[in-house]
Amino acid sequence: MGPVFLTEESPTYGLVHSVSPMVSRIVAKNPSKFTYHGTGTYIIGDPAGSELAVIDPGPIDDAHLTALLDAIGGRTVSHILITHTHPDHSPAAKSLSEITSAPTYGFGRHPVAATESFEGSDGVKGDETEEKGDTEFIPDVEIGNGDVIVGEGFTFEALHTPGHISNHLCFSLEEEATLFTGDHVMGWSTTVIPAPDGNLSDYLTNLRRLLDRSELIYRPTHGPLIENPHPFVNSLIEHRERRTAEIVAALKNEPKTIKQLVTEIYSAVDKSLHKAAGGSVYAHLLDLARKGVVSAEPDLSMDAEWVVI
Ligand SMILES: [Zn+2]
Repeated sequence: MGPVFLTEESPTYGLVHSVSPMVSRIVAKNPSKFTYHGTGTYIIGDPAGSELAVIDPGPIDDAHLTALLDAIGGRTVSHILITHTHPDHSPAAKSLSEITSAPTYGFGRHPVAATESFEGSDGVKGDETEEKGDTEFIPDVEIGNGDVIVGEGFTFEALHTPGHISNHLCFSLEEEATLFTGDHVMGWSTTVIPAPDGNLSDYLTNLRRLLDRSELIYRPTHGPLIENPHPFVNSLIEHRERRTAEIVAALKNEPKTIKQLVTEIYSAVDKSLHKAAGGSVYAHLLDLARKGVVSAEPDLSMDAEWVVI
């Protein structure tokens, strides 16, 4: 059985929702088949305190920024945390930081390889919103795996979780045993692994790492919270392992292009998702090529013919 995905009602855009004693969420109006209802920006703080952290301020969107500032009210933003530099996550950090004087925290700039995602491909394009990165974002404070961020009444541990993108971080909120998973783990959908910066092996390694941790709740940037997350994470791992096996089986007898593989493997999936599926198959093939299982003619590209070695 594949992963059992979650759904939620479309939220009222611009309205702040209290989702736990310490956490509120505002969803930006940037819905798409890759962002679900839109970017969920989280505001975290002790209700009795006066300081807040904000995770993923979101895209450039005046209405969203205004709603965010209204929700912050007279309190002080002490930290702006960025999970990664896709354009639905980090661009509003600049304005929010200027207005609130809060420093931004992130793994680093947008990776150069990620700007090459899906370029020059034969119609096998990825998500238009995931395609171009936020190359403007430079964190005031660079953080990495295991770094601890302490504010008034809240403590975060940063987890470096490359796979979806090499600068991806998750943030664990100690006080609520909650992991803010960005795009690494989403309840409503699988994540995309856009080549060449996205890396399936890293992604799987960083899914398995989560199984050794004790957070009880995940809050992704898109979609609803995930309770009892370990079975779901396991199902994501199994889903990718099964997909890899399907691809290898499909290539056993004859070389195939990504388009042919998508038509074969995703026959039950709506055609509008085949482009994204091509990106996913490419991620699996690159991973198999790195492991010496498959090779490609004339080169490791989206237009190549792939074959099991
Ligand atoms: Zn992303």
